[in-house]
Formats: sequence, structure tokens, C-alpha cells
Amino acid sequence: RATAPEKPGQKPGVPGVKHIIAVASGKGGVGKSTTTANLALAMQANGLKVGVLDADIYGPSVPRLFKVSGRPEPVDPANSRILKPLEGYGVKVMSIGFMVEEDTPMIWRGPMVISALTQMLREVAWGELDVLVVDMPPGTGDAQLTMAQQVPLAGAVIVSTPQDLALIDARKGLNMFKRVDVPVLGIVENMSYFICPDCGGRHDIFGHGGARAEAEKLGSPFLGEVPLDIRIRETSDAGTPIVASEPEGVHAKVYREIAAKV
Ligand code: ADP
Repeated sequence: RATAPEKPGQKPGVPGVKHIIAVASGKGGVGKSTTTANLALAMQANGLKVGVLDADIYGPSVPRLFKVSGRPEPVDPANSRILKPLEGYGVKVMSIGFMVEEDTPMIWRGPMVISALTQMLREVAWGELDVLVVDMPPGTGDAQLTMAQQVPLAGAVIVSTPQDLALIDARKGLNMFKRVDVPVLGIVENMSYFICPDCGGRHDIFGHGGARAEAEKLGSPFLGEVPLDIRIRETSDAGTPIVASEPEGVHAKVYREIAAKV
């Protein structure tokens, strides 16, 4: 169960890590993990040292997105406590997915989730990082609230599709971070529009502009629009996120622009 919100400043930081940023969404399937991976790679392209912590305990996708697998090794063979993170495209990554078999359902209770998260945060040799990007589990329940409290977050990025339903959930996410005094760095509209490869026409499949309007209403920065594009899906599924595989492409540019605003 969630404990009472801590006062800001009580959470110890992670040594060597300058800023920890959460990527969150009100619900699943809106592209939170895809955004996390591409945002992290875009930050790296913008010259930062970046790590990714996959805190999406119930559906870890960072191993697939960065095409990394295997068990993290201890830094010191005589002491198995501190683990070396794995690495994909120059980004240090840690995921609960490295610790369990891919098709093992995670039916952990809250305290176990918290202890796993604390371990991934504090018992991993992250080294010197400018930014550690945390892929949060979707939703705004107790588990998410507790996580937001446990991690010494500099801020949060909310991912939403343009639809009302996703936005209502995103709003809840925003309020959740407010409750634990974590500043919301802004909202990204994912699957914002679709450019038809055949006719070149633009289609707003899930509507358009909803996240921007919502950000304005809530007084949060609007960070940018990522189109719905088959290349984004294909590259993610192949474990070669588009910012890594098509660094000169239009999509990488969009992610770099978003990364620069965070
Ligand atoms: P979440 O982390 O919110 O559950 P994912 O990042 O796993 O969502 O994305 C869900 C699915 O949608 C994945 O198959 C992903 O490749 C795809 N996807 C996400 N964003 C886009 C996009 N902008 N264009 C095309 N496909 C996308």
C-alpha cells in the first residue's frame, strides 16, 4: 500500500546520476516505452550520458526495445550485490525483465515491487550519468504513487494519445506527480497524426491536438507531436528504435526536439 507522501528532499539521490526523469502514462498502450527509448536515445544524440531504468514491472519492454538480454553480472565477483547495467546503443539499461523469464507473469505485491525498484536504482553501478530515464508502469494506482515517492525524481514526462480517454488518464498521472511534489516537465502527444504513404494525405486517426490543448489548460509545457508511423512500430519491435536506426530521419528529429525541451 502507498505510504504517506514524503516531503521533498528526503529521498537520497543515486550517486553519479545528475537527474532522474520518469516517463509515465495514464494507461497502457499509448507508446510510453517507445517514447522512453527514443527520448533516451535522442538525449544521447544531444550529447548527454543516458541510462534507462525499466520500472514497468508488469510489462518490461526495455530489453526488447534495446535488444539486450542476459543476466546482469556483479561488478565484483566476490560481492553479488552491486550489478553492472547492460548496454544498448551506448545507453546503460536495467530492467526487471533481465531478472525473470520473459513469459513469467509478475504477480508481485507492492513491497516486492518497491524492493525490486530500489535494487535497480541503488544496487546498480550506473556510473556517471547526466540523465536516468525511468519507464514507469502505466496507470496512477498506489504502486505508481509509491514508486514516484521512492525514486528521487527531478521531473516527469507524460505520454498521451490525442484521445479524450487517454487524456483523462494523463490528467490523473499529472495530478499524481503533483501529490508527491514532482514537477511535470511536459506532455508528449504520441500517435498524433498519420501521413498516408500512398496518398501523402494526413489523417488524424485518434484526433489531434488534444494533448496540446490539455497541456495548456493544465499549465504544463507541451513537448511535441510524434506521428503514428509504421517505421516507429517496426523499428521498436526489431529492437532498433528509430532514433538509433534512422538518426538522420524526420522522426529522430522530432524526438531530439522533444529531448531538448525536457
Ligand atoms: P506502452 O509502453 O504505453 O504500453 P508501447 O511503447 O509498448 O506502449 O507501444 C505500444 C505499441 O504501439 C507498440 O507496438 C509500439 O511499437 C507501437 N507504437 C508506439 N508509438 C508508436 C508510433 N508513434 N507509431 C507507431 N507505432 C507506435
